[in-house]
Amino acid sequence: MIASPPGLGFRLSVQLKHWRYDLRLAHTWTIARGSGTDIFPVVLLQLTGSDGAIGLGESAPVARYQESVQTVMAFCDQVDPRKLSFADIPGSMKYLDTLAPGNMSAKCAINIALVDGAARQAGKPLCDYLGLGFRESQHLTSFSIGIDKPEVIRQKVLAAENYPVLKLKLGSPDDKLNLGALREAAPHKPVRVDANEGWPTKEKALAMIEWLAGDGHIQFVEQPMPAASDPREMAWLKERSPLPLFGDESFHTAADAAQCAECFHGVNIKLGKTAGVSGGYAALQAARRAGLQTMIGCMIETSVLISAAAHLAELANHLDLDGNLLTTNDPYLGVTAEKGILSFAHAPGKTGLRVKAK
Ligand SMILES: [Mg+2]
Repeated sequence: MIASPPGLGFRLSVQLKHWRYDLRLAHTWTIARGSGTDIFPVVLLQLTGSDGAIGLGESAPVARYQESVQTVMAFCDQVDPRKLSFADIPGSMKYLDTLAPGNMSAKCAINIALVDGAARQAGKPLCDYLGLGFRESQHLTSFSIGIDKPEVIRQKVLAAENYPVLKLKLGSPDDKLNLGALREAAPHKPVRVDANEGWPTKEKALAMIEWLAGDGHIQFVEQPMPAASDPREMAWLKERSPLPLFGDESFHTAADAAQCAECFHGVNIKLGKTAGVSGGYAALQAARRAGLQTMIGCMIETSVLISAAAHLAELANHLDLDGNLLTTNDPYLGVTAEKGILSFAHAPGKTGLRVKAK
């Protein structure tokens, strides 16, 4: 018998395939830093092991973090799949880090495919493979309403009648009109607000948060000030805020937990920022250890990324996993969100991400 060369171990992944997919949005998506389009491109990825095991992954890159479909495709082109292994995910991620720093959304696609493949080989759903489990009927996602004309917001809120918690994007000159429009359609529904860095000074942010607190049904406010703000100013705001504050653009990985604990009450963890499920798990644990509340969020993405994130739900206090619900051509089936309740009860297959192509 010929032994493996020392250090190489047992390599299972032999093929990497990745391709662009254009998600179509039900409505043009606008947030504080600008208007998107009706098309949101993502990169889908598949690893195939020599035993035929496959792992599916996805990247939903955003310009805010200096990534695009082009940078993700270019990163994936550099990857030698023989250096990836479902049996050695930490080693595989270390190899990706030798190719280039950053590129977290590109690395996210590969990490998700690795954990999907590993969990499938173990014969377990990903949540069980991670030792977390998933309590059915206990995990509720909010449904997001982007910045729009008040009349359109009213219509979107009516159309989202089945979702018990909404997330409203603010940070435009029409914030008060827009919340007013939401309230005409849903007078008492719990609402999370995401300013996406839209209030430039601590004084402006505090005035807006005090106004929001008067609504009586706002759960928390996400990223009121720019992530580049002086942390002392964000700590000043945290001390005075009548509502809990969550960092999103300020929180990327586990390494940001200590700083964010000074500035926020909680943080929004997204797999595109943490280079996938492994980094997401570490970020959730680090945030909890730092005394932060945790939320798992998303970008506009398919059921591949949404389902991957949902497998971590047991580590989160709040979920905002609705990116696939905002699209009209999600090519995959996975976790469902009827009335906002995330469920794997009818998800395809019993192992890995529990996702398959429609
Ligand atoms: Mg956010």
